[in-house]
Amino acid sequence: MGKIIVPDASEFPRQAEVVIIGGGILGTATAFYASRAGLEAVVLEMRDGLGTLTTAASEECFRAQFSEPENVAMMKASIEVFENFSEAIGIPGYDINLHQQGYLFYTDDPEGPQTLRARVELQQSIGLDDVEFLSGDEVRQRFPWASPQVTAATYRARDGWLSTHELTHGFAKGSEALFLLRTKATGIELDSQGVKGVETNRGSISTRTVVIAAGPFSGQVARLAGLELPLTILRRQKVIVGQDAAIPQDAPMTICVPSGAYWRPEVGGAAMGWATPEEPGEPLEKVPTDWAFPALVMEEMSRLAPFWEEVMGRLTRDSVFLSAGQYTCTPDSKPILGPSPDVEGLFFNLGYSGHGIMGAPEGSRYVVAMITGQMADQDNPFSWQRFARGEVVISGEKMVL
Ligand SMILES: Cc1cc2nc3c(=O)[nH]c(=O)nc-3n(C[C@H](O)[C@H](O)[C@H](O)COP(=O)(O)OP(=O)(O)OC[C@H]3O[C@@H](n4cnc5c(N)ncnc54)[C@H](O)[C@@H]3O)c2cc1C
Repeated sequence: MGKIIVPDASEFPRQAEVVIIGGGILGTATAFYASRAGLEAVVLEMRDGLGTLTTAASEECFRAQFSEPENVAMMKASIEVFENFSEAIGIPGYDINLHQQGYLFYTDDPEGPQTLRARVELQQSIGLDDVEFLSGDEVRQRFPWASPQVTAATYRARDGWLSTHELTHGFAKGSEALFLLRTKATGIELDSQGVKGVETNRGSISTRTVVIAAGPFSGQVARLAGLELPLTILRRQKVIVGQDAAIPQDAPMTICVPSGAYWRPEVGGAAMGWATPEEPGEPLEKVPTDWAFPALVMEEMSRLAPFWEEVMGRLTRDSVFLSAGQYTCTPDSKPILGPSPDVEGLFFNLGYSGHGIMGAPEGSRYVVAMITGQMADQDNPFSWQRFARGEVVISGEKMVL
């Protein structure tokens, strides 16, 4: 079982096979797969707990409905881990509050039937055989709260959401790793062979393998090794509304394709968000919120789900909870996984561009497979090298959860 401590001098390790910088979902999942591969892993987390920064700010959703084969493969494999999580971590009965109520992408665009049918055909051709195309009438039949304006949708029943807190702590408990809280990486030591160690606020740990999984702070951490990563940091806000009988609790995660606004049920109420335009910013631990945002999202959602007007009429400030975190985005909205081509022993598990919960199991497994030599970076679709090779394709779907 993984050990989570605020270390005193006697507990602080002087060496480790792998040091992972960051104790969010990605650092923790990396530690789990590293342990399974027989590696002695130490995770450095500067905050008071695991999974308390971006991971805690997320909408906690997962989907396999992507249009690129590598994303479909990654998310399908990750969802299988979510579906069998207690078995995967070896703790019988461990519960991650899995809700597979589906993901519904719907539209009122008159061209919707053609474009969404084409998307479904593409997705089916790249291995997503259980995604469905729904006409406007089929949407209303399954989801009677959908407006008469809806023209078409895509739907996959095995998509859904879970508890990121339980997921993160499940990976930690199922590992054999050492998690050091309130321990900040302040330097990466290099020598002629590459990585030599990590400096922290508590002392140095000597190691030949370091994984950067520091969420929005990953760019700052990479600079400790002299590297510049192509990352953009964007604020994203999340709204939770309290219980209201008009919010259908059996609804899927529902995304309005033309705008990107989304909502899903959450303990009697709902969780929602919208990737409204934001200026790129610096990484922050306290991300500011904007109280104009909840009304903006609900108004947009009420266009295709009119019950939201009724809910808005009843809401008080006390039943609306607003929080914010930051997306760590790459130019093609895909993560950077695997080795640095410039610094021997330095690996990345970062830049998931808003999909780091859903990609965590399989993405972290890839990173560990590259550390152990089970997977070659040439076979890795998420290699840093794709930028050097000019293979970057900018996805049209990049801002949608
Ligand atoms: C509003 C919102 C909604 C989202 N919804 C979804 C969703 O529905 N589904 C999905 O898949 N993704 C979603 N995401 C994205 C998802 O939350 C992230 O991709 C994921 O949490 C990234 O995990 P992480 O471990 O890299 O980052 P984090 O959780 O930020 O963890 C990084 C950790 O590194 C630590 N750290 C940083 N620097 C150092 C240092 N020098 N030394 C030690 N520790 C350090 C930090 O304290 C932090 O705990 C959402 C994001 C936001 C903001």
